[in-house]
Amino acid sequence: MNQTRYDQSLQISGKELVEEVDVCVIGSGAGGGVIASELACRRHRVVLLEAGGFQTKKDFNQREFDMNRKLYWENRLLESEDTGVGMSVARLVGGGTGVNDGVALRSTAENLDRWVQDGLKGYSRADLDPYYEKVEEIMHAQTYPRFEWNRNNTLFAEGLESLGEEPHPVPVYIVECHKSGFCNLGCKYNSKQGNFLTYLPRGFTNGLRLYANTEAYKINLNPKGEAYSVDALISTETKGFPPTALKVLAKVVVLAAGPIYTTMLLLKNGLANSSGNVGRGLSNHPSIAVIGVHDREVHQYRGTPIQVDKLYPLGQGNYVVEANKTYPMELSYIIPGWGKEHKERMKKLNYFQNIYTYVSEDEPIGTVTINKRTGKPSIKKPLTEKDKKAFSLGMAKAKQILKAVGAGDIFTTHYVSAHIEGMCRMGPNPKKDVVNLHGETYDVPRLFIGDASVFPRPVAVNPSLTIMAIAHKTAEYIDADEKGYFG
Ligand SMILES: Cc1cc2nc3c(=O)[nH]c(=O)nc-3n(C[C@H](O)[C@H](O)[C@H](O)COP(=O)(O)OP(=O)(O)OC[C@H]3O[C@@H](n4cnc5c(N)ncnc54)[C@H](O)[C@@H]3O)c2cc1C
Ligand code: SF4
Repeated sequence: MNQTRYDQSLQISGKELVEEVDVCVIGSGAGGGVIASELACRRHRVVLLEAGGFQTKKDFNQREFDMNRKLYWENRLLESEDTGVGMSVARLVGGGTGVNDGVALRSTAENLDRWVQDGLKGYSRADLDPYYEKVEEIMHAQTYPRFEWNRNNTLFAEGLESLGEEPHPVPVYIVECHKSGFCNLGCKYNSKQGNFLTYLPRGFTNGLRLYANTEAYKINLNPKGEAYSVDALISTETKGFPPTALKVLAKVVVLAAGPIYTTMLLLKNGLANSSGNVGRGLSNHPSIAVIGVHDREVHQYRGTPIQVDKLYPLGQGNYVVEANKTYPMELSYIIPGWGKEHKERMKKLNYFQNIYTYVSEDEPIGTVTINKRTGKPSIKKPLTEKDKKAFSLGMAKAKQILKAVGAGDIFTTHYVSAHIEGMCRMGPNPKKDVVNLHGETYDVPRLFIGDASVFPRPVAVNPSLTIMAIAHKTAEYIDADEKGYFG
């Protein structure tokens, strides 16, 4: 069922539903979930539309095959046009917060200073710190003591220490972790704090209305050219409902479908693109797993996944290394080798130590356009020479760490990515940028963008905390109603 339905003629058996609200938010992920909840808590009438299902712990069966189909777009493999990179993009209530590893890092002051130099006044680390604090509190971010780390994390830390370097313990939005290791397949124990356990319930108690399995496909404008309503289709996946058309009339529309699908919706609707830059400026923290084999069991994919990492910022390598995991099915198609060689490697699965390295500030030169044949996203994200250099330094560091703790048969996997950023750039220049410094599109008043699309360049570390912090700021601005939209 993971396909877009924008281009299909609607076969609707039920009546069209109409909602009239203050704010319609499209996409319930890191950005959209925060904005919807915060505005509901401030007494606005908010409807939240989510293409994916409302999955709860009873749905998360810890099986890769089932969960990849249920919780991700394109069964978890959104490939670039040249098949060079496979990207993971979530499709469930909570978006990425429902399947990610919960790493809760603030970006660095130096990284955000580069945003400020690009014209993003109000987005320095000092400006964002109060918002980061709120997110950390609501998401219950915390650092686990070392004795709770799994062997993959402990080996990583020991390797760095024997190289004379200090490992960096990572805060995570995980509470009383049962250490199953299956965060990317949904947490069966409600330990991982997806926003459906944090922000959304706060919103629900304040009247937030959620439509799951509901894909928005059109944003309509009034005669003044302002966003005015959203057309969506409630699919049959929602039990008890026939496929039904939904129209949401709203004073403000917030598009937060994640960078790829936010871009697709704007391109398909021909909206907000007088700059010509919608769909340009993709960055994705290109990542690769570097794996070494030990002579005793490590069980890299069991236990809390990421507890320790190390950032080598721009100017000192421009990469991150982190103890991370890959599940068996995914490993089977990203590790190198064929036939017997592949089989022999897979047999040693429990002995693998796994380190991911990703480019911290990759150059935002990727693009998304509409594939004319399929109507799906056509993604291009080549690696630049600078990215390749950072990548090779990251891989060399990971190998050093693995060797320092005695791992042998070291190999690398394909280039993958889970941190999709940019393509509806925020900035002060309507000729170049898509949204202004409050997240409102230059071309369409009352239409805001509230997800990682607005990043002008990548954050230095895992992005979700920054997306949520900026979402707080956007919600605050919408609520203040400077332009009298709710008047
Ligand atoms: C496997 C994995 C591990 C990760 N680990 C971490 C981590 O540990 N720490 C970290 O900081 N980051 C991590 N990330 C990245 C982080 O989760 C994402 O960057 C973040 O969730 C993106 O937020 P967003 O609001 O831009 O989009 P998303 O969270 O992706 O939300 C967008 C939502 O919009 C929905 N949508 C799309 N189109 C439509 C439509 N037309 N109508 C209605 N709804 C629509 C989607 O289904 C999705 O639910 C990880 C991501 C993945 C996939
Ligand atoms: S490792 Fe912890 S947070 Fe992740 S799925 Fe298992 S219990 Fe949940």
